[in-house]
Amino acid sequence: MEIEYNTVNISGLEIQFRKWKVKDKTLLDQIDLDTSLSPLEKSLKKRQVFVYNCLKNPVLLDIEQYNYVLSLIREFSLHSDLEFSLECEKCKHQFLRTFKTPEIVQFKDSDYKEVDIRGMKIKFGNIQDSNYDRDILNSISSSERYLLDLVYHIEELNGKKVSVEEALDLFQELDVDVFQELFDAFCDQRASCSFSKTLTCPECGQELHFEFENISSFFPKSWNV
Ligand SMILES: [Zn+2]
Repeated sequence: MEIEYNTVNISGLEIQFRKWKVKDKTLLDQIDLDTSLSPLEKSLKKRQVFVYNCLKNPVLLDIEQYNYVLSLIREFSLHSDLEFSLECEKCKHQFLRTFKTPEIVQFKDSDYKEVDIRGMKIKFGNIQDSNYDRDILNSISSSERYLLDLVYHIEELNGKKVSVEEALDLFQELDVDVFQELFDAFCDQRASCSFSKTLTCPECGQELHFEFENISSFFPKSWNV
């Protein structure tokens, strides 16, 4: 049977993705049942199933690009709405809403260019090192994750390629204000993806902004994820 692919272009990458298949659920079950796997290994393998196994050509994605492609695969695979039980922060009114996947996905593509932070020239780019996912998932705090995420995006430092370890060693020594400047420049350039929606409370008219995580109706019902 021929596989049908959709295509999206992000961050200069052409990504062709298929729908989720029944065999993907079988793989998820095998991962869940495999007692030899650590929780980290399980998470990494599940990330493969949800996105990477669905791609025609292998590509490395950062967490933001990954979430965006995940949302596209979800939309391609399933036509069911996403369901949310919401509460107004002002009047505490509770209400239900349903959305199509694209209605809650806010995506900004990357725009990499060289930055000069106090004489340090840095060129950011897409992830090239396949240890990225493991390091990000293994990070012990959000500040460590931010640092790793930034370092993995460095393509060149002062005109030279650097390893993740070298960049980490160097950045540990930076003054915090310099690092903050660098981090802000990186955030301006990198891709970003959030699942969020601004709504008006049907009861009191308050404008409400919701950020969605762990969306229960995101995966197929039969997958029980
Ligand atoms: Zn309200």
